[in-house]
Amino acid sequence: MEKLDKDAGGVIVVTGASRGIGFVTARELGKQGEKLVMVARDERRLTAAAERLRAEGIEAHVQACDLGERERTNALADSLRTQFPRIKALVNNAGFVDYQSIPSTKDEDWDRNMEINLNAAFVLIRGLVPSLVESGCGAIVNIGSVVGATPAAGMVAYCTAKGGLHQLTRALAVELGPLGIRVNAIAPGFIHTDMFEQANPPSQREAIGKAHPLGRVGRMEEVASAVAFLCSERASFVNGAIVPVDGGLACALAVPDLLAS
Ligand code: NAD
Repeated sequence: MEKLDKDAGGVIVVTGASRGIGFVTARELGKQGEKLVMVARDERRLTAAAERLRAEGIEAHVQACDLGERERTNALADSLRTQFPRIKALVNNAGFVDYQSIPSTKDEDWDRNMEINLNAAFVLIRGLVPSLVESGCGAIVNIGSVVGATPAAGMVAYCTAKGGLHQLTRALAVELGPLGIRVNAIAPGFIHTDMFEQANPPSQREAIGKAHPLGRVGRMEEVASAVAFLCSERASFVNGAIVPVDGGLACALAVPDLLAS
């Protein structure tokens, strides 16, 4: 398979790579010959995930970090920039969801949502711009959400953080494009991951699938292949895009409610 850029060298950093979409994305990139730096909070789980990829012949480095702690995220950015002077792509995937409406959202819930789902991406991008420029083909892919553009009730902090991540993507596409760095985002619909299972009881999963015009929730591989495309030279003129990988969910969210009323 085509390497993302045969001349540039360097690594691809994937956050939240110990499981779920991040792990499958790391595997997809590794299968395409890319060298990886996998970031996640739980060092033991992260090391085990990297071992699985190494067993498949993939070069995978690990950096454990709690991206909910600003000082640690800044230290991670410094460490990555020092260790890896050429970074071909940064995939800001780490995130978490909690279903809380406005009355039950405590200050600390709001702050943690912003820190992990939005601020960590900002801190890492800011710290890694020199290494992304140095690679000669830098790409950033942020994992947003369908609710970053079309909010759902009962998850106000998550929707707001993901909306911010979409706008960070567009603002940085404008600012970093002249440096040769492309900045894009994916807006997934519901994807079958551990997060999906934890957040949605089995009784609701069929209805959630049916809400997608394709009649099912997505697979992690379907997000990973879109991320790999956006990281690659095949997407060399794609910048500032928020790419839906949602089975058409974003097209369908509002209208059925209106028709029913
Ligand atoms: P997951 O819970 O299965 O995996 C999340 C990953 O992020 C893990 O590796 C975890 O270690 C890491 N992470 C979480 N908090 C962290 C922290 N404080 N510091 C460092 N790492 C941390 O989640 P997933 O379903 O694979 O979701 C991945 C991304 O996709 C998230 O940004 C999520 O918001 C987004 N997303 C998921 C869905 C879905 O339905 N699964 C839909 C839309 C968007």
